[in-house]
Amino acid sequence: MKVRNPRTGEFDYEIRPIDAAGVAAAAARLRGNQPHWAALPIDERCAIMLRWADEIEKHAGAIVEQLTIDTGRAGIAAIEVGGVPGTIRRWAAQASGIIDRHSPANIQSSNPTIMNSTRLVPFPLFGAIAPWNFPMTLSLIDAIPALFAGCAALIKPSEITPRFVEPLRASIADVPELAQVLEIIVGDAATGQVLVANVDYVCFTGSVATGRKVAVAAAEAFIPANLELGGKDPMIILASADPVEAAKTALRASVLATGQACQSIERLYVARPIYSVFLDTLVAEADKVRLNYPDINQGEIGPFIFAPQGQKIAEQIAEAKEKGARILTGGTVEVLGGGTYLRPTVIADVTPDMAVVRDESFGPVLPVIPFDHVEDAIAQANDSIYGLSAAILAGTSEEAEAVGARLEAGAISINDGSMTAMVWDAENSSFKMSGMGPSRMGESGLTRFFRKQAFMRQTAEPARIQDFAEEKFAQG
Ligand code: NAD
Repeated sequence: MKVRNPRTGEFDYEIRPIDAAGVAAAAARLRGNQPHWAALPIDERCAIMLRWADEIEKHAGAIVEQLTIDTGRAGIAAIEVGGVPGTIRRWAAQASGIIDRHSPANIQSSNPTIMNSTRLVPFPLFGAIAPWNFPMTLSLIDAIPALFAGCAALIKPSEITPRFVEPLRASIADVPELAQVLEIIVGDAATGQVLVANVDYVCFTGSVATGRKVAVAAAEAFIPANLELGGKDPMIILASADPVEAAKTALRASVLATGQACQSIERLYVARPIYSVFLDTLVAEADKVRLNYPDINQGEIGPFIFAPQGQKIAEQIAEAKEKGARILTGGTVEVLGGGTYLRPTVIADVTPDMAVVRDESFGPVLPVIPFDHVEDAIAQANDSIYGLSAAILAGTSEEAEAVGARLEAGAISINDGSMTAMVWDAENSSFKMSGMGPSRMGESGLTRFFRKQAFMRQTAEPARIQDFAEEKFAQG
């Protein structure tokens, strides 16, 4: 399978997707090794995971190099790779306490002669299916806590961005105990389908369309499917916000990573009194954003990782223009040196029926909509099949929170935007079609990988069958 380079457009890399028998063999090997892993005291598992964090740092140069080619951006590749050891160390510091809190022993039952204890039993084999937009982060974000829980882990990154896998595997090979229970496989949709059929719990990050297929397959396999899907995040900017600062915040929250982030702001609702200053500032600031072309080490935004995404957005923009929207800056998908780029695109005079307001763009596109009444802004923000996250900017956090509480989304940024990219300890659910299952953030990020086994200890004489004799319950 040939893999495209997002900066040159050339197919300069190849993967050999693992076949169904290979996936089954990998799953069987991991499953065989998992009981030993799960039986280790949590401190020992932590020590092994911490060695992996060190190894990732030793291999970081090679991983960043490949991830940079995968994604066409250098800075975020370095941030992604640099973040993983920190994630491992954070879970290592917290895992033991969380497990203790969720496995209480000798609790008095409401039945006076019985004492309860809870034992946490990890799912044997965890599976992850990841998208291309943050290839390393999203391949590992769920697998790391699953490993801490005592699961074995089988991970399938996106076939669009597979280059980082080889150097990442080298870091795993340097921790032999971990290599027994962690494997990364490469392949496409077919490989993903086989993975679902072979694991005991699947975490899927990707589009709604594929998420639905994974949920159906997981139902067939009778395993939990934890889905993190798309979004069309709104930002509401109230009249009390500083319009100049708000425009700068909105721009970053929308165009960072070329907007290829599920939590990117994709719709801006702005109070009428500050609309014109906000819009002028947004356009002026958007014009200052530079492509990282031709020099990857300069500029703020890179190419589309997956070129067809650019085409999809070009169609959204064309439809908006046709229906009367005004493109105030950007708006043209360009091919430069073989890579596909779009400069920050600010669009005014949009209507709710336009694809650019309704559908996920996954690019640096900012439709701006003025409102006269906050009720109207809330109604429009909630008028979406998605409910991933949202943001409110206001003069005070109290005012922003009052509006945020009325939004149908799982993560609300107050006086900032897209904060789930930086905050990993606040539990949040994906509302509506943005996902299903427990939060990957906060304590539930770990506890979701356990089944609870209750031990109910009888301290008195157990009941006898005669205690249930019909005579005892006979009426009259
Ligand atoms: P995608 O759904 O096309 O693919 C995701 C993964 O699923 C890939 O690894 C792919 O090979 C695999 N796959 C495809 N068909 C499959 C099938 N039938 N069974 C099993 N696996 C299958 O998504 P994408 O285009 O790579 O990523 C972009 C999408 O991901 C956007 O919608 C974005 O919003 C979403 N996303 C969500 C989050 C989140 O946390 N909510 C984070 C990042 C991206």
